Amino acid sequence: MSRSRTYKFLLQPTSRQLAAFECLLKLQRELYNAALEERRGSWKWNRRSVSYVDQTKELAQLRSVRPDILAFGVTVCRGTLMRLHRSFDGFFRRCQAGETPGFPRFKGPGSFVSLQWNDAKGWALDEAARRLRLYGIGHVKVYLHRPIKGTPKTITIRREGKRYWVSVQCVDVPAEPLPTTGKSIGIDLGVDFLVATSDGQLIQGSRFGKRGQAGLEKAQRDLATKVPGSKRRQRAKDRVATHHRKIANQRRDFAHQVSRSLVNDHDLIVYEDLKIKNMTRRSRPRPDKQGGYEPNGAKAKTGLNRSIHDAGWGQFTAMTIYKAESAGREVIAVDPRNTSRTCPECGHVSAGNRHGAVFRCQLCGREAHADVNAAENILQAGRARQLTAA
Ligand SMILES: [Zn+2]
Repeated sequence: MSRSRTYKFLLQPTSRQLAAFECLLKLQRELYNAALEERRGSWKWNRRSVSYVDQTKELAQLRSVRPDILAFGVTVCRGTLMRLHRSFDGFFRRCQAGETPGFPRFKGPGSFVSLQWNDAKGWALDEAARRLRLYGIGHVKVYLHRPIKGTPKTITIRREGKRYWVSVQCVDVPAEPLPTTGKSIGIDLGVDFLVATSDGQLIQGSRFGKRGQAGLEKAQRDLATKVPGSKRRQRAKDRVATHHRKIANQRRDFAHQVSRSLVNDHDLIVYEDLKIKNMTRRSRPRPDKQGGYEPNGAKAKTGLNRSIHDAGWGQFTAMTIYKAESAGREVIAVDPRNTSRTCPECGHVSAGNRHGAVFRCQLCGREAHADVNAAENILQAGRARQLTAA
């Protein structure tokens, strides 16, 4: 099996290269918007959809009218058209699924920040010299903080605030099996990136995020007081984005640490299938005595907060899976239904077993932390799956 892996490195462009990146982003945004316009117009006037292949063929015609767009090579242009293609694909898929998604939108200067090279042309990574050679830009210094394994296939360059990062997607990444440990573990993922393990550990990921969260909230309040369109507002906006990025980075680093130690110490890791978990963990309405409803935390579980948590879970499990695969460890996803209300000792299943953070079995009296209890059930479910598969 061919393993793939993505590495993310900070780029350290010179001021001339920085200006070239800005120019490239501007041109690619223009291309994106023009290609979107073409797709929209064609659909509106002719009921004909323009494909990715059609649009890449048209790139050749740009050579005479807009040579500046092709000055950075054709691969990055194709990457932009592919991005548009994917967003249309998603749009049509959601339409077919009966949803009413927004039509793909034109990109403003602030929202077009990434470039992709989807084949090996137009760029080359020189690991020894620590340089990324980019057609039309030059040899850009890369901060290679770790060695690359496998064969680099495609790259994405992204501007985050004032910094530029390159993500290098590698294939044929060799596995590095770890010695067996004889240990297995189940993990329960909670809100705020709380990981509970079947051996009783509670790993709280939001502890370090608290300070970051406070800074973010202050920056957001500050932003709300600024006059729309003003320079001050733009600066306040940048500060909010910086806080968001910091929190996301901390979350990612933490997810790397936790997934690394789980994989190093266990032969089998069992976790919950997040797609099913999202469907089952909905807050139930809690009626009050006046015929209305009490707050039940539903608001906190929806919208942006929810999607951030989900992204955190998804990122953490994805990291665990790829590290486990590369180390030759087994990872099993199980159905999370009833994991929080089942007694792992006697098998009794009841919603009454759970009292907030405490699990107390109504039948045998077993007591445990509710999340650790769930993690034990998850591990048992994984072991059962292992047996039936064997
Ligand atoms: Zn029991």
